[in-house]
Amino acid sequence: MDSPVWARLVAAHEDARRVPSGGLPEHLPVAAVLACSDARVPPSVIFDQPAGSLFVVRIAGNTATPAALASLDYAVAQLGVELIVVLGHSECGAVQAAATGTCGGHLAPIVAPICEISRANPDAPPARLVALNVTQAVRDLVEHDGPTGIAARSGALEVRGAVHDLRTATLVDLTSSTIQPRIPVETP
Ligand SMILES: [Zn+2]
Repeated sequence: MDSPVWARLVAAHEDARRVPSGGLPEHLPVAAVLACSDARVPPSVIFDQPAGSLFVVRIAGNTATPAALASLDYAVAQLGVELIVVLGHSECGAVQAAATGTCGGHLAPIVAPICEISRANPDAPPARLVALNVTQAVRDLVEHDGPTGIAARSGALEVRGAVHDLRTATLVDLTSSTIQPRIPVETP
């Protein structure tokens, strides 16, 4: 059975279809983004960037999992990306799950790292946990053994953390690895 939503998506795709007149764009992405899967925070829309501009890795909770790190390593090593933005957002379901102690089961690969932050900061309000979670991902990238971490620690790559507020559509710039090579996080 075909979902009516699929039919709507196919029709929208046809309406929006633009075949590149001069072939595929040859420019490389200007940045990579590690963002949450939440449908309300599409990085290309938030940063108003055209197709081809951003190399986007999305995973619930914008957690720097091994697969996310491997994808970002590809962007750094093969595409020469010089900026990675870890983009968190307000009202993040993954952060809320961790804050309410939903840490195991099928969600564990996503929320377990956030649960560690939550346990270390039991009095932190949700917005603070979102920011700490982004900061942790920034630190995970900078300390990574692969190309991302190597480039960040050498200064060839900037890793920046930011939070998008869904209600005000504002962007809070949290950290920059070029300012602070080792990102402190409030863990014991
Ligand atoms: Zn989220």
